[in-house]
Amino acid sequence: MLVSGGTVVDVDGRRSASVRIDRAGQVEAVAGDLHLEEGEVLHDASGCFVIPGGVDVHTHLHLPVGALRVSDDFWTGTRAAAVGGTTTIIDYATAYRGEDPLESFRRWKRWAQPSAIDWALHMTFTEAIPDRVLAECIDEGVTSFKLYMAYPELLAVDDEVILDVMRRASARGGLVTVHCENGDAIEELRRRAVEAGRTAAIEHARTRPSPLEAEAVARVANMAERAECTAYVVHCSSGAALAEVRAAQERGVDVRAETCPQYLHLDVALLEGPEAPDFVCTPPLREQRDRDELWEGLARGWIHTVATDHCPFWSDDRRRGIRNRPDGFRDFTEIPGGLPGIETRLALVWEGVTAGILSVEDWVRLCSEAPSRTFGLWPTKGSLRPGADADLVVWDPEREQSLAADELSMRVDHSPYEGRRERGWPRLVLSRGRSVAVEGHFVGERGAGRYVPRRTVEPEPVV
Ligand SMILES: [Zn+2]
Repeated sequence: MLVSGGTVVDVDGRRSASVRIDRAGQVEAVAGDLHLEEGEVLHDASGCFVIPGGVDVHTHLHLPVGALRVSDDFWTGTRAAAVGGTTTIIDYATAYRGEDPLESFRRWKRWAQPSAIDWALHMTFTEAIPDRVLAECIDEGVTSFKLYMAYPELLAVDDEVILDVMRRASARGGLVTVHCENGDAIEELRRRAVEAGRTAAIEHARTRPSPLEAEAVARVANMAERAECTAYVVHCSSGAALAEVRAAQERGVDVRAETCPQYLHLDVALLEGPEAPDFVCTPPLREQRDRDELWEGLARGWIHTVATDHCPFWSDDRRRGIRNRPDGFRDFTEIPGGLPGIETRLALVWEGVTAGILSVEDWVRLCSEAPSRTFGLWPTKGSLRPGADADLVVWDPEREQSLAADELSMRVDHSPYEGRRERGWPRLVLSRGRSVAVEGHFVGERGAGRYVPRRTVEPEPVV
């Protein structure tokens, strides 16, 4: 197969070139002077950018939440990912307290079998774990471990466990990803709000203020410094939190930050609107000045990656709440948190390119290359160098796409971006050399995705 006539953008820069893909589904050559050979299929990429497929390192598919389950499973979610230009995901498997983490890992692997694109797993720990478990995870290709500082009743671990997991992970070439919010302080704010009768959705944001996110980021950076561990801050949502990421980076601590499209585009005022329950996510949506600072962080390299935290729920489920009450949730603490986004990430970050904030190279680095490198998928994923998997997107900067729920492929009945039209969408998406999306339509196969065991972390150049 030859993808010809486009502008290739990857780690080696931007140039007019063709991409030759071999029968094994790997990149064979990228060069300006490749000509169609006998028996080869030609894909015309004229007017388009040819980039490595998107790598979304933060998804929640098939996930049970209270009495509910997210609306996308691994089949429907990865199908939508492919349509939007993402060809690899890393989902979060969770070992709840008292569970054997390897058993949880195997359960998530079973759930993920129908995936249409390649997939990997992070492992979330909710209590102290023996060293043997980390070794076994790494043997299975799981090299990143998530810890929560929020949700004390179900997920959070204390600082002693965080520091301990950091030391053990680092010693084995792994890294730790952390949900940074001061969970105990937030619990107090939530309890007081409910007691005072402040029960509306906007209280979700008011009880999770950005200083409590920033404080947790600073604490994680301090612990990462002591443990000499790479710490990856998931879903950085605020200017205050980003300032702590920067402060740590400037003194040489290896803290990397992820943000998500919802924190780049959506305002907290949506939590006071008529569809407020559809906009509950954690951390909560913030303000314009936070978005300005996050965009600057992307352009300046302080934020390392954009992932989605894709975690969709049906509208009715959101209104019944995590206790699934037929008469509706009693207060904001029962609204399931999380937004759909696995399909729209590349397009929503591309807006930064059309706005002149990011270069095309930045966009590729943030959505594909950096997540691949950070999480041990490099150079198989996130790269178009010879030998890489031919996960490739032909990105048409002129193609228009509505972000209304009924014009997208995600299995969910509302869109956070209802009414918005994007200019810039994939014309063609390949997964290991096979078409998975053409002109906005899924053409791949259920179960065609493979589990990708990940490598331990290599030091990488600071951007
Ligand atoms: Zn998440």
